[in-house]
Amino acid sequence: MTNLPADAVVIGAGIAGAASAFYMASRGLNVVVCEKGRIAGEQSSRNWGFVRQQGRDPAEIPLMMEANRLWRGLERELNADLEWTAGGNMVVFRDEAERAMFGRWLDHAKAHGLDSRMVDRADIDRIATGTNFGEHGAIYTPSDGHAEPAKVTPALARAAEGRGATFLENCAVFRLIREGGRVAGVETEQGEIRAPVVVLTTGAWSSKMLSHLGLKLPQVWVTGSVGRTDPQPEFAKSAIWAGVGIRQRRDGTVNFARRSADHDLMVQSLLHGRSFRKLSRQHAGDFRIRFRKLLLDTAMGHFSDAALANELLRHRVLDPKPNMQVLEEALAELKQAIPALKAARIDRSWAGYIDMTPDLLPVIEAMDEPQGLVIATGFSGHGFGMGPIVGRLVSEIVADGRPSLDLAAFRFGRFADGTALEVGTAV
Ligand SMILES: Cc1cc2nc3c(=O)[nH]c(=O)nc-3n(C[C@H](O)[C@H](O)[C@H](O)COP(=O)(O)OP(=O)(O)OC[C@H]3O[C@@H](n4cnc5c(N)ncnc54)[C@H](O)[C@@H]3O)c2cc1C
Repeated sequence: MTNLPADAVVIGAGIAGAASAFYMASRGLNVVVCEKGRIAGEQSSRNWGFVRQQGRDPAEIPLMMEANRLWRGLERELNADLEWTAGGNMVVFRDEAERAMFGRWLDHAKAHGLDSRMVDRADIDRIATGTNFGEHGAIYTPSDGHAEPAKVTPALARAAEGRGATFLENCAVFRLIREGGRVAGVETEQGEIRAPVVVLTTGAWSSKMLSHLGLKLPQVWVTGSVGRTDPQPEFAKSAIWAGVGIRQRRDGTVNFARRSADHDLMVQSLLHGRSFRKLSRQHAGDFRIRFRKLLLDTAMGHFSDAALANELLRHRVLDPKPNMQVLEEALAELKQAIPALKAARIDRSWAGYIDMTPDLLPVIEAMDEPQGLVIATGFSGHGFGMGPIVGRLVSEIVADGRPSLDLAAFRFGRFADGTALEVGTAV
């Protein structure tokens, strides 16, 4: 292995890990990223591509506003085409209750100077042409955008390499090496890498990885399915939520998905079930619980180092099957709402495991115990848009000793002290 020992080792090459490596390498740090499978193999290439400030928990709004600023310059900074489209984000209301809920959220947006606003039927027609969206109006944030997930994380990784970072694929980290109260590096399937800082950006695997350090992160997996149509006439530059999430790509194809998702029962569901009671009550209609082989297949990794190593090698890239029934129903609904799509067919479909925390907020923190461990995980279905700012904040924590934005809401300790049990105003 080259460039070893490193200033920092990053575990996981999703968007959080690749962006952390990019911004750390930009600060002159010698960074090695270990990825058990391939760059962006899991959530970071499988998501809808929404980059939104709209509807965020108030604690996330300042981060997302800064992320939005970074996104606007990212293609230039990375010298790459990311299909960044500054077309806004629109949520079409299904009823008056939803309108009222977003009305309350708008107070937070205004307090931060965000350009979100309520829009009426005529505005909706300008934002998305030829649609039959309902009569209850919508909320629209013109400064929001979207990008192509399959391009963004690989571009961050390439740019990070250009600034001296090393990415090791097929390189699972089995455990963190600790000396005294500090981390001293990682033990990987390709050997040991010594470093005074370890950044843990392991997405859906974080709860298991941390349990081996005696840290209890309540986190469950939820499967989200996504469909893509054949190319269609252009109808909107905005990303849209109207009961179905919709994003028309540059080549005319339309990505679509429902928020409702399948929860495959796992050991984590049982270990952390209590912490998720409130969330599951609030979103009861959105989740279907399923019993799958995964329950047995990933049962022991929480408890034994050897079993975890085995699981990491067996699941190089998590690749759940999409729920085709949900996607076919979603496309039928879309055809009703957007008659121009009446001949659209599903060309591609895929799914990804989303990692959820009980309050739907991430953990971004430099731990006191063990020192040198920085955690950035638990993005709960909306970490793609946050990716660039997360990377920059991690680089500040490592290079400057503190972040430039307030991260108090994203403390790891909130799960133990009870402050995390309120689900925020995220809508
Ligand atoms: C269907 C779907 C739709 C979504 N839509 C949106 C959206 O529109 N907008 C938005 O902002 N977000 C969205 N998200 C969420 C977003 O994709 C995630 O929050 C984000 O990608 C998380 O990035 P990450 O880097 O934390 O995790 P991941 O992308 O999951 O990366 C973690 C990486 O760590 C690796 N790893 C784990 N353990 C180890 C180990 N021990 N050793 C080495 N490597 C390891 C994994 O292999 C993986 O590659 C969606 C997610 C899904 C699945």
